[in-house]
Amino acid sequence: MTVLDCNVVNCTYNEDNCCKRKDIHVEGTQARTPSETSCGSFAPKGCRCGSNMVGEAEKNTDVLCEAVQCQFNESKKCSAQHIGIAGGHADSNSETECGSFRCC
Ligand code: SF4
Repeated sequence: MTVLDCNVVNCTYNEDNCCKRKDIHVEGTQARTPSETSCGSFAPKGCRCGSNMVGEAEKNTDVLCEAVQCQFNESKKCSAQHIGIAGGHADSNSETECGSFRCC
């Protein structure tokens, strides 16, 4: 599991910079920079989606990741001990990114 700090406060799953989901899915198959990645699990506040996937907000999260050119990517799972998802007041997942992406 990865310790997750997420500052996408406009996401329905965000609570105190933690995520209420049990896992997240980072996108960016072709990514070579952090800005080419995004959090595919983003859902805007008030969308009423995925409520059955919501639990207590925890720091430790399974991170499934399509950004295969990142040095932390192992078989499409993140092996970093700690990552930061950025996006502040994003309105869509394309406005989010994995700030911890490091190109191989
Ligand atoms: S650090 Fe790399 S492998 Fe981990 S979620 Fe971010 S982009 Fe994916």
